[in-house]
Amino acid sequence: MTGNEIPTFSPEELERRYEQERIKRLTTGVRQYRSLRDLDKDFDADPFVEPGFTRAPVVEETDVVIVGTGWAGMTTAAYLTKQGVSSYRMIDKAGDFGGTWYWNRYPGCMCDVESYVYLPLLEEVGYMPKHKYAHAHEIFEYAQMLGRKFDMYPHALFQTDCTGMEWNEDTKRWLVTTTRGDELSARFVVICGGVLHKAKLPAIPGIEDFQGHSFHTSRWDYRYTGGGPEEPMDKLRDKVVGIIGTGATAVQAVPKLAQDAEHVYVFQRTPSSVSPRNQRDTDPAWFAEMTSKPGWHEERMANFVEMTTGANPPMDLVQDGWTEMFAVDVKKDPEDEQEAAELKLLDFELMEKVRQRITDIVEDQETAEKLKPWYGVSCKRPCFHDEYLPAFNRDNVTLVDTDGRGVDRITDKGIVVGDTEYELDFIVYATGFDAPTTFYTHRLGFDPIGEGGISMSDAWRHGPYTLHGVFTHGFPNLCMNGHIQAGQHINIAYASTKAAEHTAWVIKRALDENVIVQPEVAAEEDWYQVIASTLGPYATYFIGCTPGYLNGELQMPDASGGRPGAFMDSAVKFRDILAGWRAEGTMPGLVRTPID
Ligand code: NDP
Repeated sequence: MTGNEIPTFSPEELERRYEQERIKRLTTGVRQYRSLRDLDKDFDADPFVEPGFTRAPVVEETDVVIVGTGWAGMTTAAYLTKQGVSSYRMIDKAGDFGGTWYWNRYPGCMCDVESYVYLPLLEEVGYMPKHKYAHAHEIFEYAQMLGRKFDMYPHALFQTDCTGMEWNEDTKRWLVTTTRGDELSARFVVICGGVLHKAKLPAIPGIEDFQGHSFHTSRWDYRYTGGGPEEPMDKLRDKVVGIIGTGATAVQAVPKLAQDAEHVYVFQRTPSSVSPRNQRDTDPAWFAEMTSKPGWHEERMANFVEMTTGANPPMDLVQDGWTEMFAVDVKKDPEDEQEAAELKLLDFELMEKVRQRITDIVEDQETAEKLKPWYGVSCKRPCFHDEYLPAFNRDNVTLVDTDGRGVDRITDKGIVVGDTEYELDFIVYATGFDAPTTFYTHRLGFDPIGEGGISMSDAWRHGPYTLHGVFTHGFPNLCMNGHIQAGQHINIAYASTKAAEHTAWVIKRALDENVIVQPEVAAEEDWYQVIASTLGPYATYFIGCTPGYLNGELQMPDASGGRPGAFMDSAVKFRDILAGWRAEGTMPGLVRTPID
């Protein structure tokens, strides 16, 4: 089968097969993971900075403290600047701007969302990405560029972890403390702690016994592997490498490891769906033409969101694997029996294409069978890559499929699956990050203390309560940009940017009016109802999926307290809701208390 031909299949058989594979994975849950800091070995150390950094504590008053300098924090700072708010501080444990793109420098790391829609504030920065899909180092450099463009560097405190923040009823300010002894007294705090930022390791017995080298993909140490993100890893030539995990990260890293290492064992629990990436260089003439019209960036980003959320705009501007895969009319009513059946069939067809591609590319058909994903299109994040599947045709790459069980044990010499011990020099953990279905303050690593000394973990013990995912009752002048009860999209940067714009707008008005803001409980409840109304089809879909971070490993109710995690309708609608709210001019649902 080639091109757009649709394969023949039996939906009943596929349904049975999906269920068999799902059941295999039901045993593990979220407790199967440990954080990088839980172990004796310091898996969390930052390999990108010189050790031994010190500085004097900063004790000061400022208007805004932004915690986190990834896209959410950076776009918040940019919009504050656009609003004319210049008194702000930024804190991050990293050594520079970029968030995800500071930490993820593993070989092959790229963004598979098109660069022209992914990079925030591209129109303002006036930069032309080199390729349709940007490499990680280019994105990191872009983050630095954005930092310079909006003059953020003088505001940033890097290599600094936020340890806490507490609302002071008397001063009507937050006191933010850090690992560097800083005491920042701020009118507003904006928590931009990240979405998939807290790396996790598998809780596999023996993980600390391994005598070789090991690290998580988000702490890639080129001092050990040699080379760099774009240079061959020359120190791996005589090394046998094991990589645990086959998600979007591993799909990008495996081909590079295969090129450079003596041998690579890929330990798989659930295969990824991998469709073509079709990378290409940016044609400067085409880019100049596209960007000549003011507003091109928002138009292209919104078009991408709409193409991939069932809005079916008249034109597909991005035209890639995402828009092809999600151009299906997901707005069909899953409650309607006939439409639900049509949706299911479409889903089967799309995944049959993914499986057929594996048969076509992977020469050894036994390996090809093991690489086939048996679940629906949206159950796990789809991947797009042109070198991952061919890597399995190399003599120095072995797929170790664990049949849904996962790796059994780690020993001093290597990894055990079933009766076989694989002796290794180096283990790469491509085991992902804590998802938004885990508890917010746990992911943040600190617990804000609001009015009446109530901690956020206490206030949210039954789940999150927010207005637009930005404000929460009991925590005056505290804003969040973390995709909890907020807009979401595969282009994570898009929804973050919209929340950042909104936050900066409110902060500017509150500073001008000299008021404290916090939402009414009733407004939070109204927003919850809006979110709940977007959830129906997704809840049914995800319950039928194989476990993974998108469905909280099927541990329901999930660790977020069982309340819906996000506004699941289009992020363009989220943008419009926020813009409409601002246009009203009265900040409905947000109480404004004058400061005496
Ligand atoms: P994932 O959570 O997607 O993958 C973790 C992998 O580790 C899974 O394959 C998981 O298997 C496997 N695993 C976990 N425990 C074990 C075990 N005990 N034995 C064997 N395997 C195990 O993390 P990633 O870092 O790959 O990706 C995270 C997210 O980051 C992506 O979904 C995406 O949102 C983002 N990302 C985006 C990219 C982009 O191009 N825009 C690129 C890379 C990442 P199982 O599936 O069975 O749980």
